[in-house]
Amino acid sequence: MEKAARDLAWRYALNEIRVPMMERLGLYERSTGETSDVVEKQMYLVSRGEESQGEDKMALRPEGTPGVVRAYIESGLDRSDPEQRFFYLGPMLRYERPQKGRYRQFHQFGVELFGRPDAAADAELMMMVDELGRSLKLELELQVNSLGCTRCRPAFRAALLDWGRSHLSELCQDCHQRLERNPLRLLDCKIDVGLTEGAPKSLDYLCDDCRRHFETVVQMVDRAEVTYAINARLVRGLDYYTRTAFEAVATGIGAQNAVAAGGRYDGLVEALGGAPVPGTGFAVGIERIALAARQSLALEQGAPNVVLAALGQAAALRAVGLARSLRERGLRVELLSPERGLKALLRRADRVGARYAVIFGDNELQRGIFQLRDLKASSQREVGESELLSAIVDGREN
Ligand code: ATP
Ligand code: MG
Repeated sequence: MEKAARDLAWRYALNEIRVPMMERLGLYERSTGETSDVVEKQMYLVSRGEESQGEDKMALRPEGTPGVVRAYIESGLDRSDPEQRFFYLGPMLRYERPQKGRYRQFHQFGVELFGRPDAAADAELMMMVDELGRSLKLELELQVNSLGCTRCRPAFRAALLDWGRSHLSELCQDCHQRLERNPLRLLDCKIDVGLTEGAPKSLDYLCDDCRRHFETVVQMVDRAEVTYAINARLVRGLDYYTRTAFEAVATGIGAQNAVAAGGRYDGLVEALGGAPVPGTGFAVGIERIALAARQSLALEQGAPNVVLAALGQAAALRAVGLARSLRERGLRVELLSPERGLKALLRRADRVGARYAVIFGDNELQRGIFQLRDLKASSQREVGESELLSAIVDGREN
């Protein structure tokens, strides 16, 4: 998974950023949002016991963006060199009810683009998620929405508040809270799904600039042959999330099927004390991608190209040098235990799904040959060393 993510990052000219595992709690409150589930219910606080009295509260990172933005500002890049293309890869921690696809420590691959207010940046993020899915042979469904900006969102928010108040008796308990604190979050309530179908839609309230931006994103994504659906219920709860919001879901991995979430956060850098630099990004859940990829990726990805089955002490010593020659040619080699018998060695070769087994004992050593068994073709022949190397190198491709 991580190799696919890194390869993608390379193709899109992104640079890796590594941010700390913990930050001040206040950073997450201000950026992830005090009314978000993550900050309200899922944070792990870090304590140093009595000594930590009076110090800032620290928290383990539940997501990457706040730390990336904090580091970006702290290093002065927001003023000296604002246009930056970052990716990160690493563990995140949230207090969750563990289940398939939902863990207390999980991994995210994330991308953040700073200094790019244009629609092409948003479109490229969606292309990245799509491309990551393709490279792992996954079927992903992308959904996109626009939340407008500080100019046009207040009217949408007001309409949603009106709508919520007039449907108060039908809304769930949590939504009663959400309504006053953060009405946009009514739309991602898992309980009131049917009811909120009829709620106001942000797309109907966009100003001309936001509408043009959204249309361009969608046009570009179309041109890139990425399939997507417009989902009017997709929201982010905070004011500095602007315009584009998108998500990706995978089919066939159960209830926890959201694999990626992203969007634009033009107000965030400034809200955290930096220059008014626009930003846009996404985060992918590595374990969820892995669950989905398990269905489509062949097991043989991890299989060795060749196992070496040496019988006896002299052959075991010879095998060390042979393993080295094969690995130098870029092959994946498992040197089997020389203390096992032939039957056990062949069982192991079968079990790990190797393409070739090289078998040799005292007899072969004396004659300067190896038994090369092609486990795919179920054939075996005697070869010298150079023939052995070339046969295995050639055989790797097919
Ligand atoms: P969900 O609705 O599934 O809780 P979320 O909205 O909390 O997701 P984000 O904060 O947007 O998720 O994180 C982006 C991605 O990280 C998700 O789409 C998902 O793939 C992954 N993710 C989030 N929480 C977990 C978790 N506890 N375990 C595994 N993966 C997770
Ligand atoms: Mg969550």
